[in-house]
Amino acid sequence: MTSREHSVIDLRSDTVTRPTPEMRKAIERAEVGDDVLGDDPTVIRLQERVAEIMGKEAACFVPTGTMANQTSIRAQCEHGDEILCHEDSHIVHYETGSPAALSGCMVRPARGEGGLFDEDQVRALHRPDSIHAPRMRLLIVENTHNKGGGTIWPIAQIERVTRAAKELGMRRHLDGARIWNACAATGMSPKDYAQHFDTISCCFSKGLGAPAGSAVAGDRATIARVARFRKMFGGTMRQSGVLAAAAIYALDHHRERLVEDHANAKRLASGLAEIPGVRLDPRSVQTNMVFFDVIPEIGTAAAVCQTLRARNVWMLPNGPQRIRAVCHLDVNAAMIDRAVAVIAEALSAPVPA
Ligand SMILES: *Cc1c(COP(=O)(O)O)cnc(C)c1O
Repeated sequence: MTSREHSVIDLRSDTVTRPTPEMRKAIERAEVGDDVLGDDPTVIRLQERVAEIMGKEAACFVPTGTMANQTSIRAQCEHGDEILCHEDSHIVHYETGSPAALSGCMVRPARGEGGLFDEDQVRALHRPDSIHAPRMRLLIVENTHNKGGGTIWPIAQIERVTRAAKELGMRRHLDGARIWNACAATGMSPKDYAQHFDTISCCFSKGLGAPAGSAVAGDRATIARVARFRKMFGGTMRQSGVLAAAAIYALDHHRERLVEDHANAKRLASGLAEIPGVRLDPRSVQTNMVFFDVIPEIGTAAAVCQTLRARNVWMLPNGPQRIRAVCHLDVNAAMIDRAVAVIAEALSAPVPA
């Protein structure tokens, strides 16, 4: 372990995990080829594995979750089309406007608690066929929902919104960057979710702990288009088997342990809820993410995060008074307890602005 691992408790994101020694061994052993020419055996193996896990015909390995979403959008929409998704979606807030920039698509936002919405909104926001209106082409559901709090979509609600979208002639994409967390929390299989969608993305570099990489699964024709736009967007890689090997290792060894992250998030939430000046309902914590508010009398979220950073507890502001903390492979229960103690001490008086 480096000294940083001893001193810093990094709760900024589950993307901060570093490959474990065993994962590095899998990377070292990886057989590779040139994936642009289609002959990297480890990438091929990963894609087949993801397709099987998702119950789809094919899958495509891409560098990031953003590219997984954007190639899925581009593969299924034309310029001038519209996407229906929650107003707090990752594609709305954190993908630099790429539905507009890369696919010429508008976004029609749905509203609702925790990143969820229901079929009534799908029907109300859908536009009838007309030469005046954008063509509403794609429904996107995000599960778990990141900005919504790491919330899990109930499967019955997924069935309702996707059925409504299908009846309205729309394609359906699942932003499943965090689908592994939903599966670990509910005990459902990825297929249970994926069966309701034409395309599903998943990520290996968040909770699963791989250094990089996501994938999109779907039918063969759609995945061929995803692969075409991956090339167009500059995301086709060469000896990417080194990354695919880490992803395969993560699928084999890091999915079941996500329940530990969920338990640590609950532990963190109940500790935080006891601290004066912190507003948090521990029941809102469904997976590995903890969102909480600090009262203005203590300071802004940014000022609090700065104060905590100086004390080696790293978290990110997510609004003027809102802070996000995420549990992952590189934090354990003892570190959570230490973080709670540090935060309680730091917030016992107003923080410097
Ligand atoms: C992290 C994330 C992504 C995209 O991640 P990249 O940083 O581009 O790999 C997409 N959707 C959700 C819900 C996410 O949490």
